[in-house]
Amino acid sequence: MASAVEIPTEEFVPRTIDPEDERAFMDAIEKWVEGEVKPVVMEHDHGDIWPEKLVDQMAEMGLFGATIGQEYGGLGLPATTYAKIVTYISSYWMAITGIFNSHLIMAAAVERFGTEDQKQKWLPKFATGEIRGGLALTEPNAGTDLQAIRTVAKRDGDDYVINGTKTWISNGIKGECFALLVKTDPAAEPRYKGMSLMIAPKGEGFTVGKKFEKLGYKSIDSAELIFDNYRIPADHLIGGVEGKGFFQATGGLELGRINVAARGVGLAQGSLRLATEYAQLRETMGKPISDHQAIQLKLGEMVTRARASELLTMDAAKAYDRGERCDMEAGMAKYFASESAVRNSEEAMRIHGGYAYSKEYEIERYYRDALLMCIGEGTNEMQRMIISKQWVKRNPA
Ligand SMILES: Cc1cc2nc3c(=O)[nH]c(=O)nc-3n(C[C@H](O)[C@H](O)[C@H](O)COP(=O)(O)OP(=O)(O)OC[C@H]3O[C@@H](n4cnc5c(N)ncnc54)[C@H](O)[C@@H]3O)c2cc1C
Repeated sequence: MASAVEIPTEEFVPRTIDPEDERAFMDAIEKWVEGEVKPVVMEHDHGDIWPEKLVDQMAEMGLFGATIGQEYGGLGLPATTYAKIVTYISSYWMAITGIFNSHLIMAAAVERFGTEDQKQKWLPKFATGEIRGGLALTEPNAGTDLQAIRTVAKRDGDDYVINGTKTWISNGIKGECFALLVKTDPAAEPRYKGMSLMIAPKGEGFTVGKKFEKLGYKSIDSAELIFDNYRIPADHLIGGVEGKGFFQATGGLELGRINVAARGVGLAQGSLRLATEYAQLRETMGKPISDHQAIQLKLGEMVTRARASELLTMDAAKAYDRGERCDMEAGMAKYFASESAVRNSEEAMRIHGGYAYSKEYEIERYYRDALLMCIGEGTNEMQRMIISKQWVKRNPA
């Protein structure tokens, strides 16, 4: 989808961080995961419970403004640091990263493509978590083929009136505001020229439909959003010009793909950690199973996949921080890291033997959560096509 058209380049200021500041921040994250996240993950995941206390703590740590510029009240972290944070948290509980990740993709769309007035108005509230939300692109008939969306925004004086339905939207219930992809010109050809991205806070005409019951990715809400003559001021059109929405939504997906890649790395590393520990504690035939060659082969592959995923993800994040087009790099990282998460969690399940199938052990959560990483922010089928198209383009015969 995103590969068909060029993402316009806008002024981009490279981001860096002092290594000591990064270490201090990572120390705080590690302490939080140890003291607050690890003790509650099983109960919340099994009960599909919204982690209210953790969300408040995430806001206190500034995570809802992690990638928002400091001039708008955010931490202004580079994508590399952001990826490290997401990786670390995901290595213990991936799902909670979705609560701030989807929100930050919405914020990135406003920060990269919004007018200065929009940035001043919305970003400080996004940064503190006073207003939280996500990205509303997918519709019942349009996921991969985003240009097929049917939600329409019609200009009416100083307002837009919006009708349509979005589906599978992360933070749909708990979030208050969404970057909403609409058609402002449903007849436009090519179709992407008729698409716009709106800042859509909840209000009259904007209701939440069904909540999805999911295999994994528990505790974060995924829901349908329904727009029935929902009216917003025209200045909620991101960038103030119609017809740019497809670029703005898919441009934001580069950061989104780096974040899904980082989640994949976390899941791959977490699965490896659990398997490594279990393989040394569990004995068969008078020795730890880590001494059996069949288990060694698995661990050898798992550690290699985890490391390769991490390196690809950091490579993409560095390119993003330099302001370079990085859809190929982000696509490779997302594809490889998510497949590694699935493979590593499956291998870790096998290493745990029958106990893997018990909810008393953590590994089954990694397996359930990992499968989502192959779907979100562009399916892995599409990733390979994006990678290939960009590769050929960069290497003309
Ligand atoms: C838990 C969860 C959270 C989500 N959160 C959000 C969110 O916050 N915001 C949001 O907007 N969306 C969200 N989504 C939706 C997600 O982005 C879509 O599910 C995804 O883009 C795939 O779309 P689809 O489900 O309609 O599958 P389809 O597009 O119908 O694809 C079905 C299959 O066909 C393949 N396929 C489709 N087209 C092609 C093609 N041209 N060539 C080759 N293969 C193709 C796909 O790879 C896939 O294997 C979420 C989904 C889930 C499950």
